[in-house]
This record gives sequence, structure tokens and C-alpha cells, in this order.
Amino acid sequence: AEQELIRAQRFESLALLAGGLSHDLRNLLQPLLLAGDTLEDYADDPRLARLGALVRDCGRRGLEMVSSMLSFARGARRAEQVRLGALLDALKLLMQGSVPRNVRMEVDVFDPDVSFEGNHTELQQCLLNLCLNAIQAMPDGGTLRIETAQVNLADDFFADSEAVQAGRYLRLSVIDSGAGMPSAVLQRLFEPFFTTKEGGTGLGLLSCKRIVASHGGLMRVRSREGEGTQFHLYLPLALEHDDADGLPAMESTLQGE
Ligand code: ADP
Repeated sequence: AEQELIRAQRFESLALLAGGLSHDLRNLLQPLLLAGDTLEDYADDPRLARLGALVRDCGRRGLEMVSSMLSFARGARRAEQVRLGALLDALKLLMQGSVPRNVRMEVDVFDPDVSFEGNHTELQQCLLNLCLNAIQAMPDGGTLRIETAQVNLADDFFADSEAVQAGRYLRLSVIDSGAGMPSAVLQRLFEPFFTTKEGGTGLGLLSCKRIVASHGGLMRVRSREGEGTQFHLYLPLALEHDDADGLPAMESTLQGE
């Protein structure tokens, strides 16, 4: 499971890098192309005009490469129909071999056929992250529970998050009976590179948060020292003002424009 997670994270970073790089490169290449073109048109010296044409052609080829890089980056996170049952089956499979003997893993799926628009791979990566964290928080054993439910949320639930709308949500909870967290840790949980583990990356929860946000959802955490931790992911199933077809937030995460 760790291997799979590393592979997924690497792929996500690559796609992000490709997206960011394309954007910067395009801003460099567009004026170059224009300058070459102008030089070709207005140069009195035919040798200068040829040089202009060369600059223009190189600029154009560069822009073509950039757009294929962009479509790679976008293709990496196409929205699809995600089935709850399939998502959790895949998670159980990935977790096989990562659950120590003294940890009990329980998965409760209220309806495997519930489906929603999203990205299977990303959500799987997110759940995997949370499960591995949970196991690391239970060195002396315990219970890792995954619960699912459908909930109706009113506007006031999201008082702290403007981007999220009222409506029907799928709640996915990853609950452990481990060490829990003191409030000093709880406050810094989503900071990049914040880790309390030797050799930790401090990127796991940040990446989860990003994935959930790109699905139009949000994450809640409850933790008590010595008792355990609950991570709740809320993913929209049907929004009250559902006028969008698809996931508007998905495209914008890997910004190309
Ligand atoms: P990493 O796992 O590499 O440290 P994360 O972003 O996944 O990075 O987690 C950041 C920190 O949050 C962890 O180092 C740990 O202190 C805390 N944490 C995360 N999940 C749990 C959990 N289930 N129980 C207790 N602490 C946790």
C-alpha cells in the first residue's frame, strides 16, 4: 500500500509540475513567436527575415509541445462516475498487508451502489493516506473503522467554508482508536511539511484536503488525546443549487490558462 501511495503521489506531483510549467512556458513562448513573426514581416534584410521565421517556427513548435503537456496534465484527472462499493473494495485490497495483526479493520458501506462524479484514483489515494496515518497512530493496536453515510447538510454547517454549498453529501469517515492529537498538532495539521514523525513528509493531509476540495467537498477532524481520531470527508452527491454539469473545481486545480 505504501508503494502504491508513493506512486500516486509522484504521479500527482508530475501532473502538477506539468501544469505549472506549461503555464510559465506559454507566457515565455507567445511573445517570442510574435517577435519572430514581426521580424520576418518587417525586416529589410532577407537574412534577418529568415532569422525571424526561424524564431517564429521554434516558438510555434514550443507552444504545441506545451499544449500536449497541458492535455496530459488535465487527462490525469478526468472526472468519472465513482461507485462507493468499488472505491472501498479497492481500498481494502490496497490495505491488505499494511494492517498489523493487532489492528482490526472494519469497513461499513451503507450502500455500495451509491455513485457520484469524481476521481476514483485520487479519492483512493486520499483514503489510503488517512488509513496509513491511523495505523501509525495505533502502535499498540486498536481499531480502524471506515464508516459511510449519506447526510443532508444545511448552509450553516459550512459557515467557515464559502466554497461549499448546502445539499446531499456522502460522508466518509476514517476513525482510529489511537493516540489522538494535542490541540497544538490539531491546529497545524494541514500545514505543508508539518509532521511529528521521523521521516514523515507532512504532505499527506494537505494532499487529502486538496483532493476533497477539488471534489467540491470538505474535511473535518475530531481528535482527543489518548482516545483516537476521526477524519470525516464530505463529498457532494446533489447540491441544492445544482446548476453545474460536472465538477467546475476539477479543471481549475491544474491550472493551465
Ligand atoms: P505525515 O504522515 O507524513 O506526518 P500528514 O500530513 O499525513 O504527514 O500528517 C501530519 C501529522 O498529523 C502527522 O505527523 C501526525 O502528527 C498527525 N496525524 C495525522 N493523522 C493522525 C492520526 N490518525 N492520529 C494522530 N495523529 C495524526
